[in-house]
Amino acid sequence: MPDGASKVLDVQNLNTIFQTRSGEIHAVNNVSFDLEEGELLGVVGESGSGKSVTMMSLIRLLPSPPAEIRAGKVMFDGLDLLKIDDDKLRDIRGARIGFIFQDPMTSLNPVFTVGFQLREPLMRHMGLNKKQANKRAAELLEMVGIPAASARLKDYPHQFSGGMRQRVMIAIALACDPEVLIADEPTTALDVTIQAQILELIKELRQKLGMAIIWITHDLGVIAGIADRVMVMYGGQVVEEAPVRELFKNPQHPYTKALLKTVPHVRGERAERLEVIEGQPPILGGAPTACPFRERCPVAIDICARENPALHVTGPRHAAACHLVAPAREEAHV
Ligand code: SF4
Repeated sequence: MPDGASKVLDVQNLNTIFQTRSGEIHAVNNVSFDLEEGELLGVVGESGSGKSVTMMSLIRLLPSPPAEIRAGKVMFDGLDLLKIDDDKLRDIRGARIGFIFQDPMTSLNPVFTVGFQLREPLMRHMGLNKKQANKRAAELLEMVGIPAASARLKDYPHQFSGGMRQRVMIAIALACDPEVLIADEPTTALDVTIQAQILELIKELRQKLGMAIIWITHDLGVIAGIADRVMVMYGGQVVEEAPVRELFKNPQHPYTKALLKTVPHVRGERAERLEVIEGQPPILGGAPTACPFRERCPVAIDICARENPALHVTGPRHAAACHLVAPAREEAHV
């Protein structure tokens, strides 16, 4: 993380629930975190851990009902994104906060050309006319490595390969020079070579454009190569948070330790056998009253079934939520 950087996003005690016929589902529980200027924060967890719902809550992308953001603050440039009116939010969403989703086919509109979809935010948010927007659209496609960019503006999404469509999505997300980019499993649907190319591209663009990024993934291996800091989620809450090297060197939470054993290491010529985390992620329900990891935790004790541990500071910029992890002395700050 850059020294002396300031916060671009500050999320406090976010709680999101879903109303269902069988009652409320608490999908995001008291999630707090911040994002520094130019920082890449990796958000890791299995599916159902609450990582995507958390990020969609920030920019109010969840349909309501059934979703309801019951509490919390999301501060961005002095504004609480959970309180501002829809018009103001639309000015920020897609312009100052960009996002890329896993499957570009669900995010790109199949009936409009890629050029139209790139021009639209440029004309709406940046005030460019059609000619200027067209020129900028071609530059953006070129920037993300699409050959013959100007000619390809006339093509429809289905005329691009999976990797190229993901590049188009990145170009759209970056069109208005966002201060924050939220990328939700953007490489998961791609084959390994294309995945590596997209990761390289994001690293390059981040250096060039200086934006802060939230990168959501279930794969700690991906995070190791690109993140400054990592937030681990489980059962709708943050269970550990630390700078990336610290997390890999000194994991505190039993879930993070288990997750690290699922990351492949190659020693010499032989790849190590990967471990899997026994058991299933928890089925979310009412407000949590116990540690969400207790059913799968190899070191659980009695109190884990009675009390949900709070996230506490365990060292410099390191925090964990586990009854067995001792809090640091007062001088440490996360
Ligand atoms: Fe395991 Fe208990 Fe820690 Fe939860 S609080 S991770 S169950 S030891």
